[in-house]
Amino acid sequence: MPEGPEIRKAADKLEKAIAHQPTTEVFFAFEHLQPYQDQLTGQAVTQISTYGKALVTHFEGGLCVYSHNQLYGKWMVRNAYNYPSTNRQLRFAIHTERKSALLYSASDIEVLPAVAVLEHPFIQRLGPDILDATVTPAEILEWVQSKVFYRRRFTTLLLDQSFLCGVGNYLRSEILFVSRLHPTHRPTDYDRDQLARFADAALAVPQQSYRHGGITNDLAIAADLKKRGMPRRHYRHWVFGRDGQGCFVCGTAIIKDRTGGRRYYYCPTCQPAER
Ligand SMILES: [Zn+2]
Repeated sequence: MPEGPEIRKAADKLEKAIAHQPTTEVFFAFEHLQPYQDQLTGQAVTQISTYGKALVTHFEGGLCVYSHNQLYGKWMVRNAYNYPSTNRQLRFAIHTERKSALLYSASDIEVLPAVAVLEHPFIQRLGPDILDATVTPAEILEWVQSKVFYRRRFTTLLLDQSFLCGVGNYLRSEILFVSRLHPTHRPTDYDRDQLARFADAALAVPQQSYRHGGITNDLAIAADLKKRGMPRRHYRHWVFGRDGQGCFVCGTAIIKDRTGGRRYYYCPTCQPAER
């Protein structure tokens, strides 16, 4: 499943292809949305915003198209009207003179006015977005200490999108490693300084991943290993996917465990169970 940085990258690619120019055609497969086709055709897309796994395509006239990919939805950017050969169903398409943005298989598509986006039931229950440059570590520090989250284990808390929006499996392990917190402990098990470290990492790790092609490891370590011919999976992350290999900080073998069927990784020395 893609996580915040990968979803934002995909939205950037869509924006680059079709935004800020008049659309030549807007297509909806669902009959109840088809009345909007003529209205949106000719309008430019002004931006594509991301809310966790939801995308909101803003049109200059003030209408937005909300789409959530769920498990099967897939966006493709193609040259205009150059449809791929696929068995998937085309559900939403934005055509411009040179490029087409095509959404296949998604079933969760709505048209709504821009002012209603933040009240959409899915978007409304999301926590702060880890890629939102206006969110500060101080806000995350207060947030992680709030009653609803304080006594929950980090393993479950970090995958709850109402806590932080955009964190998935790899970011969970990486944020906790950089914070030096044990995955099965809870916010209440740590002091304010330790939680402040978490608040910093919760924003810094995803934002580095977004800017540096998914790399959450120290950039100098990663560059050095790459230069020495190591495959990407060996240098991309601090701990994620590295069970049995040595921790980049202390050399201890990284441990892999599972919760709710989903794997996580940690260093038992850098992230001790005792505090
Ligand atoms: Zn370590």
